[in-house]
Amino acid sequence: EAKREGGAALRFFDHAMQASVTERAHLEADLDRALEGSELRLFYQPQVDTTGVTVGLEVLLRWEHPVRGMVSPGVFIPLAEESGRIVAIGGWVLESACQQLAQWAEQPRRRDLTISVNVSPVQFRQAGFVDSVREILARSGADPRHLVLEVTESLFLQDPEQARDTMLALSALGVRFALDDFGTGYSSLGYLKRLPLDELKIDQSFVRDLLESSADAAIVETIIALADRLGMRVIAEGVETEEQANWLREHGCRRFQGYLYARPAPLVSGKEALPGFPS
Ligand code: C2E
Ligand code: MG
Ligand code: MG
Ligand code: MG
Repeated sequence: EAKREGGAALRFFDHAMQASVTERAHLEADLDRALEGSELRLFYQPQVDTTGVTVGLEVLLRWEHPVRGMVSPGVFIPLAEESGRIVAIGGWVLESACQQLAQWAEQPRRRDLTISVNVSPVQFRQAGFVDSVREILARSGADPRHLVLEVTESLFLQDPEQARDTMLALSALGVRFALDDFGTGYSSLGYLKRLPLDELKIDQSFVRDLLESSADAAIVETIIALADRLGMRVIAEGVETEEQANWLREHGCRRFQGYLYARPAPLVSGKEALPGFPS
């Protein structure tokens, strides 16, 4: 009896797997078209200081699929990483972000803004990555010091020495680094002292229950202290309420990002849609 049930479950499992393989194949083919056409969109989410003024923006990729509607990066980034398409997609994101920076450099009230770009480990480990960033910077005329590359701890698991060399080379160009989703990965803290990191991003999972969970509060306090002692900036992600923002401010956090300030949105040229965005 148990065996038969197991068999049924297995068949069901096979069927589900089959569907997802087909589904993935479709999405992957669609992704090629998305990159060639104009289905990929850049949304921007402000990063604000203690007075609520936007000091930087994070670029968040969106895929506006003609049939499926908005496909989340949580779905298509992993697919793009497995197939290697992330290299072309990530290059396009970087190029667009740098063009935006170069435009803002001409505008007195925007010239100090930074743009943070998420970089996939697959993209980061590509042999030509440093050269491609150098070329994009040269082509766009963007100030490298206003470009922040967001990497995650997973980058340091596979080949930490290579990751470090690449970071040092980019750092020499003037590019900055933020460590995204800090505290959620599996790597040791030792890398913090060896890498040219400028900013720690407190993961939203710690911010969410800050006021209810003394463990989360302790972790956040520790991250803020750690960043401070290491001479790094710290930014809290996923800030949704005034209460969270007040707590964070009282505990020494000076930068914030989250729905409380603005949801990620496209930049509408001329009339900017983002609240608090300097016009
Ligand atoms: P991430 O870099 O950690 O980005 C933060 C995520 O939190 C974004 O999700 C953002 O929309 C969401 N978020 C911002 N504020 C709040 C808030 O107050 N509450 C909640 N609940 N969520 C908030 P999104 O845009 O769906 O992106 C998910 C992930 O996809 C990103 O996480 C990043 O890892 C990846 N991603 C996005 N764009 C790119 C890209 O251009 N390249 C690469 N390689 N990855 C990207
Ligand atoms: Mg990020
Ligand atoms: Mg994050
Ligand atoms: Mg994330």
